[in-house]
Amino acid sequence: MENGINEKKIDILSLSLSELETFVTEELGEAKYRAKQIFTNIHKGIHPKNITNLSKALREKIDEKCEYRLPYIEKKLISAIDGTVKYLFGLVDGNCIESVVMKYNHGNTICISSQVGCRMGCKFCASTIGGKVRDLTPSELLGQVIAAQNDTGERISNIVMMGIGEPLDNFDNVVKFLRLVGCEEGLNIGYRHISLSSCGLVDKIYKLSELDLPITLSISLHAPDDETRSAIMPINNKWGVGELLRACRDYYGVTKRRISFEYTLISGKNDSKENAEKLARVLNGALRSEKEGMPIHVNLIPVNEVKETGFKRSGDEAIKAFAAVLEKRGIRATVRRKLGSDINASCGQLRRENTKSKEE
Ligand code: SAH
Repeated sequence: MENGINEKKIDILSLSLSELETFVTEELGEAKYRAKQIFTNIHKGIHPKNITNLSKALREKIDEKCEYRLPYIEKKLISAIDGTVKYLFGLVDGNCIESVVMKYNHGNTICISSQVGCRMGCKFCASTIGGKVRDLTPSELLGQVIAAQNDTGERISNIVMMGIGEPLDNFDNVVKFLRLVGCEEGLNIGYRHISLSSCGLVDKIYKLSELDLPITLSISLHAPDDETRSAIMPINNKWGVGELLRACRDYYGVTKRRISFEYTLISGKNDSKENAEKLARVLNGALRSEKEGMPIHVNLIPVNEVKETGFKRSGDEAIKAFAAVLEKRGIRATVRRKLGSDINASCGQLRRENTKSKEE
């Protein structure tokens, strides 16, 4: 009962279609085609009790043997500026996570959480302050997309795994989720519409490259050298910048999928022109050879000021100058457009406020 889900019951939304087929034929003694009907309905957010093309007796049998609960809306904030919707979702065991729906011209994108809390300890990040509570199950990962889609009433076509938690620290559940979400019979969101952001678990990057999952990988680099990076990201003590970039080059070599790099600009910590020159040198050196090289894209994110960390956002001039250095060295740099600035849309802070107010 670690995550509040009754272990005697089957977490039906975590099952793949073939696992569901086995369950339907072997446990329920029903025809195999029923599995597809059930799968399609539960992935739309319909509770097994309410699947109208099944007999009442079968619905009851499923309900008796299976658990089906979507995250519920504990709080919801809508940006008056750009329509970004931020959810604080409650889970079966009362824990909370955050998801954000952003509206772009090319469709709706959801940013989902991968764990309750995080144990990576990045110094600037609100999600990691209380440590990791637990991993999310595949159904809880999927449930965020289903619940948000049903609430907004609009199709979600893109997913970014950039919310609370480190997705590669919850590897098996995340991989299962990625396979589920791409299913034609379910949400049908293809791998090319999914990005996963990681602080750089090198062993898992190699593992991911062996799977046939053409998602986009984003790496939270945030510093060009070990000294600067270790000071803000403890994971760098385990795998340094050089090892991380070697894993990135390998990932690109195997998958041919471009990796983008995130770089959070923190005033006086990592935002000088020298830092930018070094970053360009390191990226070009590690990822480009004379014959071939991977196109490099750096996403610059002015740090979101979190009360507890005391880090300050870089000034606009410093941000522009940093981007200009990268561009001069042949690296595409974009400054992330800030959506939902009036609702504190970056992940981690709403859950933190909510946890704090419950403690008080
Ligand atoms: N654990 C994953 C994904 C979650 S964080 C990762 O590290 O990539 C998503 C992105 O937001 C990461 O690049 C992270 O470093 C960044 N981030 C976290 N706190 C931030 C803050 N206060 N301001 C700006 N970016 C932040």
